[in-house]
Amino acid sequence: MTKFEQELKNNNFLCSHCTTCDKLVWPPSDFCNNCFSDVVWKPVSRFARLIEFSRKDNEYFCIAEFEENIRVMGSIQNSSNLKINQPLFLVKCDYDGIERFVFEPVLTS
Ligand SMILES: [Zn+2]
Repeated sequence: MTKFEQELKNNNFLCSHCTTCDKLVWPPSDFCNNCFSDVVWKPVSRFARLIEFSRKDNEYFCIAEFEENIRVMGSIQNSSNLKINQPLFLVKCDYDGIERFVFEPVLTS
């Protein structure tokens, strides 16, 4: 299991960050995909926005985008009236052979 996956399992969403390029390295890696420097790990904001969603039975699946164009696939709970681009909050992440991301819509007034 990679460090990224281990942290996901602990409900921590971290990404590798290259201090030389000053950017997040996605997909996460122990080396920068641009300059091959070592990376540091830092938490990613748990707020995302909804890029795409689909419904299967009573489950909603989505593509969500975090800061710096990090996109993941996940599911949405307590969803109603979903709109593209609406804010989402990452409630839970996990790893059980595949990456799991569970979101909830952020209610805006
Ligand atoms: Zn770099």
